[in-house]
Amino acid sequence: MIDIVDSRKRSELMANIRGRDTAPERAVRRIAHRMGLRFRLCRKDLPGRPDLVLPKYRLAVFVHGCFWHQHEGCQYAHVPKTRTEYWKDKFARNMVRDNDNEESLRYLGWNVVVIWECEVGDEEGVRERLRAAIRSNKSNPDQEKPEHHQGGPAEGSGAK
Ligand code: ZN
Repeated sequence: MIDIVDSRKRSELMANIRGRDTAPERAVRRIAHRMGLRFRLCRKDLPGRPDLVLPKYRLAVFVHGCFWHQHEGCQYAHVPKTRTEYWKDKFARNMVRDNDNEESLRYLGWNVVVIWECEVGDEEGVRERLRAAIRSNKSNPDQEKPEHHQGGPAEGSGAK
């Protein structure tokens, strides 16, 4: 039985499922590096082994292959035409596992960002995703302090 995936694509896919360095992961790391972010790679002690971990912001970043993780609505997330049931079953298990990992990370107090393989070419988009995740972190040490307003309580709450 022959699967219709060329050998280069296949080795990329296999690299991905084994958690090796893939081109999309490297691209996201380069972007994070250019943003001046400090990160660690593949923390094996964390659920799902996030591809990047930003300890300062308690942010875990996954770079997901659109095929393996079935990016919804994505052109790369097609189900192969041969052995369809096998693939559907495999993808379903991958997605359940992804959800479990994200939930566990959040439970442990981590923020989670998923960057899809098809998104890494858009550097500004990736930067914005990371910035948004960093901003949304309540314990962010860089978060601006709320401005101190002079003049006491807000309108309407004063003495009558
Ligand atoms: Zn995609």
